[in-house]
Amino acid sequence: MSLPFKPVPSAFFLTFTSWFVLLTGVAQAENFTVRYVVSVEDAAQPAVLVRWDLAGIDEIQDISLRFRNHKPLHIEASGTLEEQGERYIWRPQRPYARLSYRIVVNATRGASQQRFDSYLAPDWMVSRGRQLFPLVAVRYRSPYDTVESSRKLTARAYLAFQVPRGWKCATAYPGRAQNTFELRGPRSFLTPRGWFVCGHLHTEAREIAGVRLELAQVGGVAAESETIFAFLEATFPLLTRLLGSKTDRILIVRAPDPMWHGGISGEGSFFLHARRGVRDPDQTSPFLHELFHVLQPFKPAGDADWFVEGLAEFYSLELQRRAGLLTQRRFLKGLRSFERYGLWNVDLRTQRDNAATNNTAPLVLYALDQRIQRLTAGKARLDDAVRRLSQHDGRVDSAAFKSAAEAVAGAPLTRFFQRYVYAGQVPRLNRVD
Ligand SMILES: [Zn+2]
Repeated sequence: MSLPFKPVPSAFFLTFTSWFVLLTGVAQAENFTVRYVVSVEDAAQPAVLVRWDLAGIDEIQDISLRFRNHKPLHIEASGTLEEQGERYIWRPQRPYARLSYRIVVNATRGASQQRFDSYLAPDWMVSRGRQLFPLVAVRYRSPYDTVESSRKLTARAYLAFQVPRGWKCATAYPGRAQNTFELRGPRSFLTPRGWFVCGHLHTEAREIAGVRLELAQVGGVAAESETIFAFLEATFPLLTRLLGSKTDRILIVRAPDPMWHGGISGEGSFFLHARRGVRDPDQTSPFLHELFHVLQPFKPAGDADWFVEGLAEFYSLELQRRAGLLTQRRFLKGLRSFERYGLWNVDLRTQRDNAATNNTAPLVLYALDQRIQRLTAGKARLDDAVRRLSQHDGRVDSAAFKSAAEAVAGAPLTRFFQRYVYAGQVPRLNRVD
């Protein structure tokens, strides 16, 4: 049967409408463009030059900038720039504007001050959005001066790197040209987020469970990409089944000393020290732990560190068992190591100590998983509570986690929480009452 008219794809109308809007000026949606350029002028200097070029910004009244770690050096802008305490208020010149500043790349982490979570070495740089870019709040002119109407504005934003010859860069965003990336995100004014890595890169990408996982390594790191991808082929699909995935790409950055010896997650990306393999001696996996954070839709409220960290750590062990990568004996070895190195007899809700969040909490969550399975005759488990919690895309607290667990268990868990979460007792591995 043939149709009297060939249906015209609706995309045609959209395209036609937007051209109409552009040509006639009856626009509801305006366009502006932001281009960020990070220049590593001399890798022997600890600072980089960052430039913002804005075009078509008639709707912007002012932009408030708050740098998180270091104050910028030599900040300049077209229009006016006023320093107000911790912030700068920038009223950019229209319709084209420019801002530039130099900023120190190196930032230490931890008490010893000898490890970095952002570093410019002679032949590589590992950094992230929060180090090189400020927090931004934009005020728009009427009629775009409400959150609702500012969403009608569409912006294109790019991040480019000017780097020494032979360097290449990788970010959490898709590449559009050599060392140039297109930012994506839900806000109309986007600033770069997540991890960046530049240098003589060794990169390799693999699509697993519909997500492009890109591994970018610098500093003469021995490429263990085959081992890493084989591990992720087996385990990452289980993680996306647990948490869902709103992202289609994740960048994994590996670099050597003097970088931080652990893992640090960011938007659409994470950093992991080059010395860390797919599995630690305690059988948990720093790759799965950080990937849990990258995919988790919820953010921890003030008392929730224990279960957000605990879930990341527990599933980094449990998903390896499910994937058939850990025997029962090794899995038990992992649980015993949580017991041995945990911090006990503390209220987990107020603990930020690593021993509590990364050893006590995962063992308590293992016990909770067992408990939910027993109460439901195996019909539900901790996964179901995590899925329920994943419906919150804001902050979740301990009370929300308890309710999610009780909803799937079909029974109150007050006694369990009192005993193991608030009083920090050690759950016995073979039976938890
Ligand atoms: Zn963590």
